[in-house]
Parts: sequence; C-alpha cells; structure tokens
Amino acid sequence: MKKCVFLQAIGFAMIGVLGSSDLLASQEVNLYSARKEALIKPLLDKFTAKTGIKVRLITGKADALLKRLQKEGANSPADILLTTDAGRLHRAKAAGVIQSVKSDTLIKSVPANYRDPEGYWYGLSLRARTIFLVNGKVKPSEISSYEDLADQKWKGKICIRSSSNIYNQSLVASMITSIGEAKTEAWAKGLVANLARPPKGGDRDQIKAAAAGQCDIAVANTYYMGKMLNSKKDDGQKEAGTKMTLVWPNQDSRGAHVNISGAAVTKSSKNRDSAVKLIEYLVSKEAQQWYAESNYEYPVRAGVEISKTLANWGTFKADSVNLSKLGENNAAAVRLMDRAGWR
Ligand code: FE
Repeated sequence: MKKCVFLQAIGFAMIGVLGSSDLLASQEVNLYSARKEALIKPLLDKFTAKTGIKVRLITGKADALLKRLQKEGANSPADILLTTDAGRLHRAKAAGVIQSVKSDTLIKSVPANYRDPEGYWYGLSLRARTIFLVNGKVKPSEISSYEDLADQKWKGKICIRSSSNIYNQSLVASMITSIGEAKTEAWAKGLVANLARPPKGGDRDQIKAAAAGQCDIAVANTYYMGKMLNSKKDDGQKEAGTKMTLVWPNQDSRGAHVNISGAAVTKSSKNRDSAVKLIEYLVSKEAQQWYAESNYEYPVRAGVEISKTLANWGTFKADSVNLSKLGENNAAAVRLMDRAGWR
C-alpha cells in the first residue's frame, strides 16, 4: 500500500514536471485582432497579470486579417482570430483557417445561438443592426419592422450603406432564414426603390446624412450611435446622434437582428491551450463588462451590467436565430441583393 502511494507520488511529480515544461512552451498567445488596440489591450494586460501568459497583439482590418491568415496558412504565427460579424467567422471556418474548440467554460458562458454549433467560433459581444429616425420627421409608431422599410411611403427617404458590406449581407441572410428568399427579395427591391441616394459610406455616414437632412431614416449598428453620442470630437457627430431616435424592429415577431464580435483558435496555432484560456477569459463576467462597454456593445452573456448609453435605449427582443445561419446564407444574400439592384 505504502509502495503504491510512493509510486503514485512519483507519477504525479513526473506529470507535474512534464506539465510545467509544457506550460512554459506555451506561455504566449499571438492574437490577430480586428478590434483596435485601445478596445482590447487593457484586458489583455489583465489576462497576462493573472496567468503569466503574454499576448502579442496584431491589429488590422477584419477582411485583411482573414486574407493574411489564408496566405500564411500553416506557417501563420496567429493563435487567435478576433473579428466582427458571424458572417466573417463563417468565412474563416469555410477557408479552413480556424479549428474547433471544446470548452465547457465557453459553452456555459456563450448562449448557443451566439457560437458555432461545431465549436469553431464563439461570440464575445453583441450589437444590433437597427433603424434610426430623424426626430420630428418620422414617428417611432410609423415603423416597427425591417419589412416596413420597403413601404412605398418611404420613397427617397432611406439611407443605408452598400450591399458589399457584411453587416447588410448578414441582415439579409437573417431575413432569408426567417421569412424565406422570395419575401426577402421582394423586400430588398422595395428598400432599394426607397433609397434617398446611391449607397455610400459607412454606418456612421448614414446617420450623419439623415441628421443633415438627406434622408429621414437610417440603418446602422447600435455601437456607432453609441460612439457618436459619446464623441468628444468637435465635428458634429454628437449633435447628429441627438437628432435621431432608435427603433427596435420586429419586437412583435422575430426580434431585432443582432450580430457579434467573436473569436476563434486558428488552425495553425502553436499555443492552443493558452489561446483557449484567453478566449475563456474574454467571456468571464469580469472581462465582459469592459469588453462590451469600451465599444458600446452588449455583453454576450447574461447578468453583466451595460453602459448608460445602452441602458437609455431600453431592453429589446433579439432575433434568436443561430448566427451560423448568417454565414450559411451569405452567398444567397449577396446574390439576392445583386438581383434587387442594391449597389
Ligand atoms: Fe463596425
């Protein structure tokens, strides 16, 4: 019996030695991030202080980072891809540059509709794509759904960015999932007929154009409005934001279209365990509040406080479709928008 315990102790000691050398070899993580340094670095520093794992941060534009991963292939130094929009994460999965991760912590923390069913990517924060009305021109009672944007009475009144943008592709993909392709195509045609101008600029530009009188209705992601309302710049952004009212669409039906920023472990990762630990940290309650608040987004998990700006917009019902559907329907959405003449 004694001998047995002794052997066991040696066994544990050996595992301990092997384990720690293993850990030493993976005490760093290389993070490719579409999120800007100021919006993530403080959290990475906290993670390093907690775990001793160093994080090397490489930031870039979302589409460029994905291309870079594809080009680097197995030689990529990246361990994690952090990017925005489930459609993009789906592209990364389809391109074979990310791998499946099974983590009880991630599965427990991230609601099922905000992560890939096969574990390839996990949502970290939520944003809604919603409708903004110019105060005094359109009453919130006049528009209650995305479908309403196709109503003829809004001819020449709507600003929305180009169909080449993934946010619009994902919105259309969500509609294909919920109401089918035929109805979505008729809707897209109606929307295009109502545009105040050929699509140009980003989400913020739609809000600015509306505030400047070029249209009465703008479609944009919530965090852009959050940033505008809290802008310290002297460039009229804040004033533009205050001229608009946010409408939560489809509250009596499927809910407002939401999307995520999310993370995935790359296929080429040489520091897989540390990479998983970092993603797990980013969904911890402690990290979630800061991560969401720094970009005026919603936490991906329940029970985390939200910022004042977001609290002002009230609670809303979100479309519960599994976001992997947005990726699956992306190609159909792009073709549909093209047929509808959405430039
Ligand atoms: Fe964005």
